[in-house]
Amino acid sequence: MALRIDGLTVTARLRKGTQNIVSDLSFWAEEGETLAIVGESGCGKTMTALAVMGLLPTNCVAFGSVRLDGEELIGLPERKLRALRGRKICFVPQSGAEFLDPTMKISAQLYESLARQGVARKLRREVAIERLTRAGAEDAESFLARYPFELSGGQAQKAVIAAACCDSVRLLIADEPTKGIDREGADAFLGNIKQLFPHAAVVVITHDISVAADADRVLVMLNGHAMELGAASEVLNSPRHPYTRSLIAALPSNGLEARSSLREPSPSGCPFYAECPSAQNRCAAFLPPAETAEGHMTRCFLC
Ligand code: SF4
Repeated sequence: MALRIDGLTVTARLRKGTQNIVSDLSFWAEEGETLAIVGESGCGKTMTALAVMGLLPTNCVAFGSVRLDGEELIGLPERKLRALRGRKICFVPQSGAEFLDPTMKISAQLYESLARQGVARKLRREVAIERLTRAGAEDAESFLARYPFELSGGQAQKAVIAAACCDSVRLLIADEPTKGIDREGADAFLGNIKQLFPHAAVVVITHDISVAADADRVLVMLNGHAMELGAASEVLNSPRHPYTRSLIAALPSNGLEARSSLREPSPSGCPFYAECPSAQNRCAAFLPPAETAEGHMTRCFLC
């Protein structure tokens, strides 16, 4: 198994005290598998990714276990983590354009990356064109001749992915990779990633349910907790958890209004207590345990 996370908890030191941003999170991703993490802003998706990469802000600390190919990453010295990032762990950011040097042509930036990977000088143009094409660029040769400001958001994203592509990558984390790019580019994103990184486990953080639908499995998070985890087709087409149902029902494409709070949030109970139409008294007092049946996990007293 490429990535295995057990009991990951991220605690932040804030002015008002300490707070768990991610609580007792467990999931895995096999080689060649895509896991989509979905949830509203602030649910802990990005902090989970930062914890896996060892890039948490200085006021945060991670506990639990994050293993990549069996190697424990929590507590690994920064020097070793830095060596893993870029070689075994690849990160695709929200805005590709911000990761590109505005003063350098795409060709120079790709050749620099290929040089770091040990690709011989005379092969770099050919390899760069091949990777851009696999990343979904329609006219890779003209891509190479352009500066970042001459690319659209989706094109910049493809250039970043092509630069990051490397056979040794075992874990690719993409944070809102389709934000700001057109529908066509968004729909093609996961297919392109799978082609370029066939040996990697892919974790994609997204608000875009159509991107999540292309993943193998989906993890739904709320207030730092895993609420539902299962095959993408099951979680998105037949959600078992009240929160997942609410999240999907509130999609603009379903024409429904955002959810409204009915009760006070419960600090010790279920994170969905305040808005859950099925809430009971015990939901306010106790956090429901994560229960798994036939490979499908839910955290709800009633599921
Ligand atoms: S545990 Fe209770 S409040 Fe939470 S989702 Fe289930 S029924 Fe709703």
